[in-house]
This record gives sequence, structure tokens and C-alpha cells, in this order.
Amino acid sequence: MNIILIGPPGAGKGTQAKRMIDRLGVPQISTGDMFRAAVKEGSPMGKKAKEYMDKGALVPDDVVIGVVKERFEKPDTKKGFILDGFPRTLEQAQALDKLLSDLGSRLDHVVVIEVPDDHLVGRLTGRRTCRGCGYMHHVEFDPPKKEGVCDKCSGELYLRDDDKEATIRDRLSTYHAQTSPLIDYYSKSGIVRKIDGTRSMEEVNKAIFQSIGV
Ligand code: AMP
Repeated sequence: MNIILIGPPGAGKGTQAKRMIDRLGVPQISTGDMFRAAVKEGSPMGKKAKEYMDKGALVPDDVVIGVVKERFEKPDTKKGFILDGFPRTLEQAQALDKLLSDLGSRLDHVVVIEVPDDHLVGRLTGRRTCRGCGYMHHVEFDPPKKEGVCDKCSGELYLRDDDKEATIRDRLSTYHAQTSPLIDYYSKSGIVRKIDGTRSMEEVNKAIFQSIGV
């Protein structure tokens, strides 16, 4: 099954994708995770991406599309995929259409997780990401047992630069200007499933599975 998750930053795309991969038996492809890994490695692409990420801006389309194309060369994507955080612009969506049609494939569902901006600021500024395994705790909703230490791997927890409030406001404006138009783009194919993302993780998860019929 080929699925895209769309939603503003902090809507829970990553969390939901992780819950879906086991049940659906397909990989999660998160461009944000791929860029954070490149930043950590200090690769030239990581250095370039970091300039944009720190400002809450989008990494240029040609860079993102290149990264995704390369990822699709791995055989695990043949079973399907959950794209989390890609596409984020019309140009990326068109590049994905072309890539899939070249592979003789197509999208099954575009799941849109809707959450109003006011909810999101609180959610994101409370996130603490693990430097070791990438797991995200939340100071209010999922606090670690020991402050600053990841429950999963004992790695150090930190506040991502792009989770600071001013950057979050910029990321939300970017989402409304550049990514939300994709909902109309995909609506024409009748594959958009809108989910109320203000509910608990479990409820949102249940609603997603219902909407995609599994
Ligand atoms: P995320 O974890 O998905 O919120 O992504 C973190 C940051 O990585 C974003 O704020 C962007 O700077 C960059 N990024 C991730 N995915 C994309 C994409 N599809 N297009 C452009 N930039 C992206």
C-alpha cells in the first residue's frame, strides 16, 4: 500500500507512521529523518540542508527530490511505503507522480492529519528528541523517567533548533503557503482522507486505519 501523510509540523505524522509500518509491512520514508541523519554525519548535503532547517524553511526541491529518488531505489519500497514529510510542494508532488508512474505504481491514500496552529505550538516546543535513537519524548505528554535522558536508549534528549517557537511559527507559515495546496491537488484523484489530529494518538491511529480500510 502506498501512502502519503500530510499535516503541519507537530501533527503527529512521524508517530503515526511508526505505528503504521508494522501493521502494513511497509517502510516509513521520512525526509526530515533523512536530513537530520545527514546533518549528524556532517555530509555536504547535510550542511546545505541544515541552513534551511534551522530557519524553518524548506530544503530546495532538487535536493529533496534527489534524496527521495535514491531512497526509492532500495528494494523495500516495492512492497509499498509511508511517505512522511514528502511531498511538501507542488513540484515535489509532480516529481513523485512521475517517479511512481515510471515504476508502474501509484498512490493509494493521502492521509491529511488536521490540527489548528494554536495546538501545535505547545506540542512542538515541548518535544525533546533523542540524539541517540531519534525517539521523541514530550515534557508534558510523554515525559522521560529521568529528565534529559531517553527512556528507550538512555541517549541525551535535546530541543531541536526547528522546535523553538519562532522557528515553529515560520514552519507553520511555510506549511500553509506551500504544502496545504497539495490537499486540493490530490483531492482531484479522490484519495484524500482527512483526520482530526487533535485527539489522542490512539484515536488518531484508529481513525487512520479506518480511513484506509485496514
Ligand atoms: P520534519 O521532521 O518532516 O518536520 O522536517 C524537518 C525539516 O527538514 C523541515 O522543516 C525542512 O526544513 C526539512 N524537510 C523535510 N522534508 C522536506 C521536504 N519534503 N521538502 C523540503 N524540506 C524538507
